Amino acid sequence: MKLVRFLENEAVRFGRLEEDIIIELESTGPDLDINRLSGTGRQFETAAVKLLTPCLPSKIICLGLNYRSHAEEMKHPLPKKPIIFLKPSTSVIGTGEPIIYPPQSKRVDYEAELAVVIGQRAYRTAASEALDYVAGYTCANDVTARDKQPKEGQWTYAKSFDTFCPLGPALETGITDPESLVVRGYLNGKLVQEAPTADHYFTVADIIEFVSGCMTLLPGDVILTGTPSGIGSLNPGDSFEVSIEGIGTLVNRVETAGQADLPAGNI
Ligand code: MG
Repeated sequence: MKLVRFLENEAVRFGRLEEDIIIELESTGPDLDINRLSGTGRQFETAAVKLLTPCLPSKIICLGLNYRSHAEEMKHPLPKKPIIFLKPSTSVIGTGEPIIYPPQSKRVDYEAELAVVIGQRAYRTAASEALDYVAGYTCANDVTARDKQPKEGQWTYAKSFDTFCPLGPALETGITDPESLVVRGYLNGKLVQEAPTADHYFTVADIIEFVSGCMTLLPGDVILTGTPSGIGSLNPGDSFEVSIEGIGTLVNRVETAGQADLPAGNI
C-alpha cells in the first residue's frame, strides 16, 4: 500500500495512492499511523491536490559511505561501523517543492537514496527484529553542499540547509526485503545513479540496531541508507528525480536563494 499525506482545501489529509487516484483515509494523529486509518469514502485525482512528505520526522539519521562504489569515488576507506550524521527536520520538503541553492555554496550535489520510515518506537532493537519497527519505505535526496563537507570533521553544516532533504512521494508499506530494490537517480531526465540496495554495506536491519542502540527512534523518523556512486552537482534550473521501483518517483527542481543578507561568518 502506498500511503500519502496531501493538502486539499488547505487541510492536511491522508490517503492511499492507486495509480493517479488518492483514496482518502482518516487518521487520528498528525502523522501517518498505519494502524489507525480508515476510509472516508472520498477520493481525489493527484493532479488536483498537493502531495506533502509522507511523514513528519523528528529527526533524519543518515548513513555515510554505505555503498562500496560511493566510498571508492570519494576515495574514502569503508567504515568498520556505520558512519552516521543527522539532517534537521527543517531540511525536509516534499515532491515538487524546490531545492533552494544556498549562497554559501558553490557546489551542491544530489544523492539518490532509499529512505526507511520508522513505524514504532525503537530503542536497543536487535537486527533480527528491526524490520518489525519499520512502517515502510520512500525515496530521498540527501542534498549536500559538497564544498562545505570536509573529509575530516563534521558534515552537518553541508547537509542541513533548508530544503536539503526531499522525501516522497509515498510511503510504501508492502516491502518485506529492503535489500532487494534498485535505486536510480535522474538529472534532467538522464540516468546518473543506479544501484541495487543489495550493495548496501550495512543492511537496514543492521543500521536500525546500531542507531537505536544510541537514540530512540520515534514513529515517522527517517533513516537515509546512503547513496551509490554517480554523485554530481546540481545547478539552479536543474530537475532531479529519485526513483525506486515499487515505491515511486520523487521530483524536485533547484532554485536560487533569495537575496537576503547573511552574516559574514556564514559564508
Ligand atoms: Mg547521503
